[in-house]
Formats: sequence, C-alpha cells, structure tokens
Amino acid sequence: MVWQRGAVTASAPIEVDLALLGGGGAASLLLAALDRHGVRDLRIAVVDPVRRRGQDRTWAFWGHPDSDLDPLLSASWQQVEVTTPARRRVLDLAPLRYAMLRSGPLYDRAAEAERRLGAIRIVAPAASVVDDATRVVVRTGDGGIVRADWVLDSRPRPPARPGRTTWLQHFRGWWLESDRPAFDPARAVLMDFRTPQPARGVSFGYVLPVSDRHALVEYTEFSPALLTDAGYDTALAGYRDLLGLDPAGLRVREVENGVIPMTDAPFPARPSPRVARLGTAGGATRPSTGFTFSAMYRQADQVARALAAGRPPVPEPAYPRRHRWMDAVALRALDRGGVGGPDFFDRLFDRNPAERVLRFLDGVTTPVEEVAIMNSTRLLPMIAATAGDAAHRVRDRLRPARPAPAIPAAVVGGPPIVGRGSAAR
Ligand SMILES: Cc1cc2nc3c(=O)[nH]c(=O)nc-3n(C[C@H](O)[C@H](O)[C@H](O)COP(=O)(O)OP(=O)(O)OC[C@H]3O[C@@H](n4cnc5c(N)ncnc54)[C@H](O)[C@@H]3O)c2cc1C
Repeated sequence: MVWQRGAVTASAPIEVDLALLGGGGAASLLLAALDRHGVRDLRIAVVDPVRRRGQDRTWAFWGHPDSDLDPLLSASWQQVEVTTPARRRVLDLAPLRYAMLRSGPLYDRAAEAERRLGAIRIVAPAASVVDDATRVVVRTGDGGIVRADWVLDSRPRPPARPGRTTWLQHFRGWWLESDRPAFDPARAVLMDFRTPQPARGVSFGYVLPVSDRHALVEYTEFSPALLTDAGYDTALAGYRDLLGLDPAGLRVREVENGVIPMTDAPFPARPSPRVARLGTAGGATRPSTGFTFSAMYRQADQVARALAAGRPPVPEPAYPRRHRWMDAVALRALDRGGVGGPDFFDRLFDRNPAERVLRFLDGVTTPVEEVAIMNSTRLLPMIAATAGDAAHRVRDRLRPARPAPAIPAAVVGGPPIVGRGSAAR
C-alpha cells in the first residue's frame, strides 16, 4: 500500500478515526468543511486510486452567498433566464445566487485542507469494507489495511435495487471563446427548453457566461438512454445556432461530458453502523433534476459540525422522504408522457417565486410551500402518476427482489470525459 503524508511513504496497516473512501466532489467538500470548522486532532485517511486535480467537471448550483465557496467561484449571477417555447422569463434569485464552481479550485481547496488536517492519502482503491460495529476494516486494492472508527464512503455504486423509473441526466458542454462580445455576463441561462424535445424525455440548453467572450454552453437531456457522440455534437451545434452565435467567430476551448443518474431507485445512505455514504452513492443526487452539489455541501457541513462537537459523523438524509416521493411521482409523470417537461417547468416558474422553486429543487422547502408547488403542476397527470407509483410500490413488495439494472460506467465508475477542442463544429 502506498500512503503519503507529505513526502513520507510506508507500507503498514494504519489506524485512523475517520476514513474517506473516494476523494471526489463529496469528499473534497467535506475536507474543506472540516478545515473551516476547525476540526483538528482527528486522524483522517483518504482512500482513492486517483488524486483529483484540475478541471474534470463544472458545478452549477444556487444558494446563499457563502464566504468559504465564493472566493473559489468562476462566476455567479443574481439573475437567470428560464425559457420555453411559450415564454422567456428573467428571474431575480435574491437572496440566492446561481454560481459556477470549476472542479480545479475545489480540489485545490481540498488538498490544502488535507494538508492542514494532516490527513493521510492512500493512492489505491478501497476493495472491501468490514464493519463489526466497533471498528471498520478497509482492505485496499494493493493489499493494505486501514482500521477506522468511522468510514464515509462516496465510491460510485449502483442503487440497491432497480428504480420504478430509471432515467439519466446526460449532457455535453462546450467552453466557448468568442472573437467579439457574444454573452451577457450579468445573467446565466438556467434552462432553455426551445431545443427539439426527444420522443421520450426532456431536453434543454443552458449558458453559463464568465465574461462577454467566454461561456460554458451545454446541451442536456433527461431521458432513459445516452446519445451517440455525434448526437451530442449535433444537438449542441443546434443550440448554438438557436442562440444566434456565429460559429466562424467561436472556438471550443474545452469539452465537458457527464452522465448523472435520475432514478427513484434507493441509494442506501447507512449500509452498516459505522459506515455512512456521501455524494451520489449516498443519495445526494436529486432524482428529478440530477442536481447534487447543494446536498453534498449541506451534508459536508453537517458532518463537520458533528465532528467538531464530538458527535458521530453521520449526516441527515440528503432529502426528506416526502421529497423523494414527490420526485418519484414527477419522474413517473414525465416518463409515462403524462406531463411535458417544458410545460412542467413553465407552470412551476410561472406560479411560484423563483426562490421557492429553487429551494424546492434543493429539498429544503416547508410542507406548506410544497403544497403550493404541487398545486402549480397539472393535476390529472400527477394524480395518475401518484396512483401508478402507489400500485408499483405494492407490486414491488409482493415480487422477489431483482438486481439493479446496469448504469453506464460514467455514472458508477469512470470519470467524465473532459477533452480539449479546437474549432466550433
Ligand atoms: C461532468 C459532471 C458535471 C456535473 N455538474 C453538476 C452540477 O453542475 N451541479 C450539480 O449539482 N451536480 C453536478 N454533477 C453531479 C455531482 O455533483 C458530481 O458527480 C459530483 O462529483 C459527485 O460527487 P461524488 O463524491 O459523489 O462522486 P465523484 O466526484 O465522482 O467522486 C467519487 C470518487 O470515488 C473514487 N473511487 C472510485 N472507485 C473507488 C474505490 N474503489 N476506492 C476508492 N475510491 C474510489 C473516484 O476516483 C472518485 O474520485 C456533475 C457530474 C458530472 C460527472
């Protein structure tokens, strides 16, 4: 086993208070939170075969301005656009803001926190995890052993059983550089549903400008299956044209691809007494939107506060149970065609303050606000989806368990492909 604390390497079992399995988004936010909350004298190991560095994804999320994250942001916007074929609306998000965080600055912040916390970095995969309720023994892929009081596990994994609806959020983005001013840096496009809609699913484009000449322009689908490589390029070029951008004056500086699960399948967050799961593996990905960042950030803060107060490092569930149920119903309504995506979001944003919708999508609204949100959707298809969901749950209880379906490697394992481009196609 190769472990590193500064420049030292050694080969021996190690004893820690806390082992983080996986050092990606969730673990990076946790390391930053532990540092922020002044947690010291805690023996920490981070186990990951890859040391995350540089740009492998871009996080967009909303929330209150925050002194820890804001210095790391590439951009933030007080106003966003939500456009459907029916309407283009500009939403004022105050007191929230929409923000863009490139992975590089977060990984750097986590590396700095790791140093200050004196954490041990083990550059190997965690192979097995055995929890005897007093200690957890982690065996690493190269034969090493880590013994920990607690394990926080964010290794990608499939759900425990199949979902009633299994969709994916899949996307391709181009980091575009323009010869002349082409973007409005004061305003991001959150969702633009004027893209051609797939036969089954929802598509939209969005624009995250960092200046009047640089922006991340993405094409996203919520649907059951991935597109081909050429399919993403065609869709993205179509969206670029829809925005009226002239390809002759544009260069693609980077390409970002991603696949995120959107499913009501369960991701158990507490597989054993001393192991808690974080990130997508722990259910932090919101089934109806794929948004994950805010829940990871919230849970990182909860864990750090718990440790600072001498309590077990176990976060609250990423989303309340009623939100998971509402998501299951909404996903079902979209999947079975009862509700059209653009119409669904049109009504949501037309009939509620933007800030309420965004807090709802983060899972932090009150039940009274949620009734208002539910009332803004089309009643009949939602009732049909609720009834269908209830019937499906009963059938699930009566039927023997089936294994979960295969989810693309990009969701449960491999990193997203981030490449460099040259000219806008
Ligand atoms: C390209 C992309 C863009 C995204 N954009 C957004 C966004 O804008 N907003 C949003 O809310 N969400 C977004 N997401 C979703 C989500 O926020 C990210 O996927 C986030 O990185 C999830 O964090 P995680 O820690 O769960 O997983 P990851 O960040 O994928 O980290 C998992 C880690 O586990 C490690 N690992 C794998 N196997 C092992 C093993 N056996 N032992 C130890 N470690 C292992 C991996 O090397 C990796 O470092 C995006 C996802 C992608 C892929």
